[in-house]
Amino acid sequence: MTYDAIVVGARCAGAPTAMLLAHRGYRVLAVDRATFPSDTISTHLIHPPGVGALREWDLLERVVATGCPPIDTYAFDFGPFTIEGSPANGDSAVAYAPRRTALDKILLDAAVDAGVEVREGFTVADVVIEDGRAVGIRGRDRGGSTTTERARVVVGADGLHSTVVRQVHPEQYDEKPPLLAAYYTYWSGLPMLGRFESYVRPYRALAAWPTNDDATLVIAGWPYAEFETNKSDVERHYHEVIDLVPSFADRIRGARREERFVGMAVPNYFRKPYGPGWALVGDAGYNKDFITAQGIQDAFRDADACTSAIEAWLSGTRSFERAMADYQRERDRHVKPMYEFTAQLATLEPPPPELQRLLGAVHGNRDAMDGFVRVSAGATSPSEFFSAENVERILAAALQ
Ligand SMILES: Cc1cc2nc3c(=O)[nH]c(=O)nc-3n(C[C@H](O)[C@H](O)[C@H](O)COP(=O)(O)OP(=O)(O)OC[C@H]3O[C@@H](n4cnc5c(N)ncnc54)[C@H](O)[C@@H]3O)c2cc1C
Repeated sequence: MTYDAIVVGARCAGAPTAMLLAHRGYRVLAVDRATFPSDTISTHLIHPPGVGALREWDLLERVVATGCPPIDTYAFDFGPFTIEGSPANGDSAVAYAPRRTALDKILLDAAVDAGVEVREGFTVADVVIEDGRAVGIRGRDRGGSTTTERARVVVGADGLHSTVVRQVHPEQYDEKPPLLAAYYTYWSGLPMLGRFESYVRPYRALAAWPTNDDATLVIAGWPYAEFETNKSDVERHYHEVIDLVPSFADRIRGARREERFVGMAVPNYFRKPYGPGWALVGDAGYNKDFITAQGIQDAFRDADACTSAIEAWLSGTRSFERAMADYQRERDRHVKPMYEFTAQLATLEPPPPELQRLLGAVHGNRDAMDGFVRVSAGATSPSEFFSAENVERILAAALQ
């Protein structure tokens, strides 16, 4: 084998996976059909747990130096009331939203610094399978030359439309269809003062937060059932959502749109993230609607957990099967409550009466508001916040 690992895809999941394996002394090739810096269809709020991973990898300073401002307050406006609090947890007091052009390049450069061999503009066409086991990749560079490379493990970090997945056919489970369609663009002259703001209305949602170059990202969404019909006039439908919130509509009237509208809808699924000679990280292995903005920090967590499992196997400490089964189990245990919470939010249906009552009680209770904000940041599990005990405590406090 030429390499210990080949990582296909080199953004939020792939670059850190390659970097962490190289840090442990393994010989790693990372390939991506994109060249960097480049954008991708994704907004880019990174909650405190994701910021904590960047700090742990010594990359936070580089991200902050790109000029994306810290975000210390999240505000969820439900119409009758707003739940506002701090997303801070032990990982970080603030969130950041670096443009993907900046973030992904920093992650890739860190992989190169760690000793990863990187090939940009290289498209993987096939996973090479021998005797039922993945042993490498076959792909072509921008000049059209086809190359085959071999490794002990092939890691698919190639996102939603993963080529690796198409070749290795992992089991897919807990699927849900696309639920939400949303479009975003960037505005100048719309100061956010360190705030992430979200406005929730029946069957509509809107969110805004600051990013690089003094720009503000504003995303507006509607149910997936309206995706096709609303496609023909995205700008009108986007502004109709904004007009549901007159105070925000006033602010945007004084701002200037700097870029085109970009948007999409995504399916929700889990995939078994390993098999003979292969592993999956990031969206290739697990995807959920972007309404809770979990994907980047989930990709970071996968990178960390998957590389630990691969190391346990490569170093001879554990069998591949055992190490990777733990990786899958821990991933699913960690993200499942958030997966369900995210899917419920992504329907954009008005909260059921008992949830409305709870949110009403959360409003104005500082600890409970911070708690709710931390759930949406993925810093506290929804199962903890919505446990019978915690709900009772919040409702009782509201009666005092
Ligand atoms: C509209 C939208 C908004 C979002 N907003 C947020 C947000 O605010 N915060 C957040 O945390 N998450 C957000 N997400 C989710 C986030 O974008 C993803 O979870 C994250 O990008 C996953 O990273 P990844 O590395 O797994 O995949 P990707 O970032 O998709 O990277 C996959 C890479 O694989 C490469 N690739 C694919 N096929 C091949 C091939 N055959 N050969 C070589 N290379 C290949 C691609 O070029 C690409 O660079 C959003 C997603 C969407 C769609």
